Amino acid sequence: MDALEGAVIAEPAPEQKAEFATRREAFLARRAQEKEFLGVEPRMADGSLVPVHLNVGSASSQELAAEKYTSGVGLFRTEFIYMGREQLPTEEEQYEIYKKVLTAFGDRPVTLRTLDIGGDKKLPCMELPKEENPFLGNRALRLCFSMPEVFLTQLRAALRASVHGNLWIMFPMVGSLEDIRRAKGYLEQAKAQLEERGLPYSPAVKVGIMVEIPSIALVADLAAKEVDFASIGTNDLTQYSIAVDRMNPALGEYYQNYHPALFRLIGYVVKSFTQEGKPVSVCGEMGGDPLAAAVLVGLGMSKLSMGAASVARIKKLLSGLTMEKARTLAAKVCTLPTNSQVEEYLKAELSPLL
Ligand code: PEP
Ligand code: MG
Repeated sequence: MDALEGAVIAEPAPEQKAEFATRREAFLARRAQEKEFLGVEPRMADGSLVPVHLNVGSASSQELAAEKYTSGVGLFRTEFIYMGREQLPTEEEQYEIYKKVLTAFGDRPVTLRTLDIGGDKKLPCMELPKEENPFLGNRALRLCFSMPEVFLTQLRAALRASVHGNLWIMFPMVGSLEDIRRAKGYLEQAKAQLEERGLPYSPAVKVGIMVEIPSIALVADLAAKEVDFASIGTNDLTQYSIAVDRMNPALGEYYQNYHPALFRLIGYVVKSFTQEGKPVSVCGEMGGDPLAAAVLVGLGMSKLSMGAASVARIKKLLSGLTMEKARTLAAKVCTLPTNSQVEEYLKAELSPLL
């Protein structure tokens, strides 16, 4: 099994085996070398700091162990708490889990994304009607709007946990300013409910959005006035910008995550939020991909968030890259015409740093 290429070869020829062994050795050597960067500060070659945050899901102790190498949680996919159970988690159960993550990170930010269900993510404890186009359907924030009690329960649990750390609440699948205002309305309602019950929450909780639908990316200048921060979900942003199903392996060649259109769009979002003095980060797969990450930093991203497996690799990349070089890469890819030309260019420029 060639896990690097995602292939299973039945009865490989001897020369295939030899070639595979050589690649395997090189891969393991590179991984071992990358590991040395796990604990270093995420500094670029010119000293610029680019905080590296962690994406978490289950919030298991194993997952949270990467806390020591990261500057915060850039994406807490809370839907994992709802998965694999017969009943929805109660406010109390959620509060305990959120408290655990916030406590583990102390005063470092923990970005808790509210329930992002539907599309590819199903819940056994929630019967959802079958839809023709689930990725364009009643998912994530829309679903929460249609089930206010589920949404409010989660928001109350998160707010209650906020006294134990530095909580940033983030809404997924935001498509319009109405979505933002409506979601913030629910947050205010949840606060009022806690006040009625005499339960405390931190007044410093930040409120932000995921930018993963092109319509909100294109009004980022206006959205930036309504929230404290944004995080770019490049997995869905790619899917919706290029109109290609991210779950369909037959469409792999069309899922072009070096498409220059994406970098232009992301550049616009970063510029808009930066002009408002609001932080903007990335929490989709591109943040953990060294080629894309170099461009994202050059576009002005204030931090990168990724799964634990990518942390060492990205810190290694940053250590060899200057901000000036990253800016040059970013400017160039926005002028290139195709995905493959961007990829080739980045490989040629960055391979010595990988
Ligand atoms: C994204 O869409 O990029 C993202 C981070 O969210 P998810 O992968 O959970 O949809
Ligand atoms: Mg998403």
